[in-house]
Amino acid sequence: MSNYEDIFKKVVSHAKEYGYVFQSSDIYDGLAAAYDYGPNGVELKNNIKNYWWKSMVNMHENIVGLDSSIFMHPTTWKASGHIDAFNDPLVDNKDSKKRYRADVLIEDHISKIETKIDKDVLKATKRFGEAFNKEEFLANNGRVLDRQKQIDSINKKMNTYLSSNNLKKVKALIEELDIKCPVSGTNNWTDVRQFNLMFKTQMGATADGSSDLYLRPETAQGIFVNFLNVQKTARMKIPFGIAQIGKAFRNEIIARQFIFRMREFEQMEMQFFVRPGEEMKWYAYWKDFRMKWHNSLSMGEDNYRFHDHENLAHYANAATDIQFKFPFGFKELEGIHSRTDFDLKAHQEYSGKKLQYFDPELGESYVPYVVETSIGLDRMFLTVLSNSFREEELENGESRVVLKIPAVLAPLKAAILPLTKKDGMPEKAREIMKMLQLDFNCQYEEKDSIGKRYRRQDAIGTPFCITVDHQTLEDNTVTLRDRDTMTQERISVKKLHDIIAEKVSVTKHLA
Ligand code: ATP
Repeated sequence: MSNYEDIFKKVVSHAKEYGYVFQSSDIYDGLAAAYDYGPNGVELKNNIKNYWWKSMVNMHENIVGLDSSIFMHPTTWKASGHIDAFNDPLVDNKDSKKRYRADVLIEDHISKIETKIDKDVLKATKRFGEAFNKEEFLANNGRVLDRQKQIDSINKKMNTYLSSNNLKKVKALIEELDIKCPVSGTNNWTDVRQFNLMFKTQMGATADGSSDLYLRPETAQGIFVNFLNVQKTARMKIPFGIAQIGKAFRNEIIARQFIFRMREFEQMEMQFFVRPGEEMKWYAYWKDFRMKWHNSLSMGEDNYRFHDHENLAHYANAATDIQFKFPFGFKELEGIHSRTDFDLKAHQEYSGKKLQYFDPELGESYVPYVVETSIGLDRMFLTVLSNSFREEELENGESRVVLKIPAVLAPLKAAILPLTKKDGMPEKAREIMKMLQLDFNCQYEEKDSIGKRYRRQDAIGTPFCITVDHQTLEDNTVTLRDRDTMTQERISVKKLHDIIAEKVSVTKHLA
């Protein structure tokens, strides 16, 4: 097992042990690719939502929110193209009977070549020491250039075959690269087929086909069909955006890697409506704005990169992913798409209702163009969790597991710990708890030794521990322990609120 897989396994079991994420229906041995968020998980999720909403809606006068229903009129999905074109190419290994997404098999093959490049870089770093220049090495080293050439050629072939729906060639490419099933170890593949990702269900009691419904595979269509409702009632002028957070469902063929790919997940999407012809300007704006949002969390700028699409979806004229370096490699975290007027035009056609905007400055009506930002809430959660997990050796020879979650997102902001259960310390601690708990999510804990309690809060990722001791009763001061540095400071109880507020303030991070 590689070091990365090992760390990822630890993150998954840590998430369960500390009430972040549980397998759905655990007592029935679980349901594949469905997960439940525990007490700390739901807090972290809410904090991520809030952080996104504040930056997208509150910071933009021209963006408003929406909460549309999961069920939509079935024609919505005909118009959006999801019934005809929302397919994944899938392939089965005849020996293991395991099913894979053909494009993911090829992408995993590419990742392996990328890992080799990473190893070349690591070796060279060791060899050249301080004198090492990574950019120069990547641009000139023969072996790296060969590997990069291979990657580019595979990418190009894959994109061409997928966009022309040439499934025979996709299979041929898998064979040419000699990609083997990780389970059986053979390259005995079936033909590649298309598989629709939408979940179907029925409304009402009739078995008649007209009542077939789909669980929405994206939240965006709820925004498009409400375009005029929102524009008129909120009196919005173009350019303006509509933001929404909500569940989406996809019958994913391969659902592994924990909450990275689920069948029921949550999206945070924003559709920005612009004048035709101005979409590229806004596409650039949103690429930049969204990357800044990620970087505002200080989780390492090198952990993010853009990955522009060559194989564009049926609705897009430009698209990029913001990828994050998960323990299993760089993978998509967020998509930014220039969706043209495809969706609004299609809904106009299928519904027979005009979906146009009268632009008072131009004195004309048009169907707006759309730039979308779409991020998976669960993937963002995994980003935070996997990036913050650390096993540290301490100076005294002990070790600790700590979640260095950005304080602004941490589920618990402070733990209030009376040193002992007597001498009035619990009462004083409860008093402090009362003073803080409405503004910050706090936990009161009096069981176990203080050292054990610190370790437990480190493992949860609580940025502050406030310890009430004998001195507190005399001079109204406490010790304030910092999760990351483990330093302890004597602080007046009166200052606690301001110190915590400063560290966890959303405003400070986003300003
Ligand atoms: P992928 O290529 O990984 O299947 P996608 O390109 O189909 O993703 P989009 O349709 O652009 O994804 O959806 C926007 C975002 O929703 C993604 O960037 C991702 O964060 C999230 N997302 C999509 N599918 C899933 C899923 N099955 N589980 C969790 N999050 C998902």
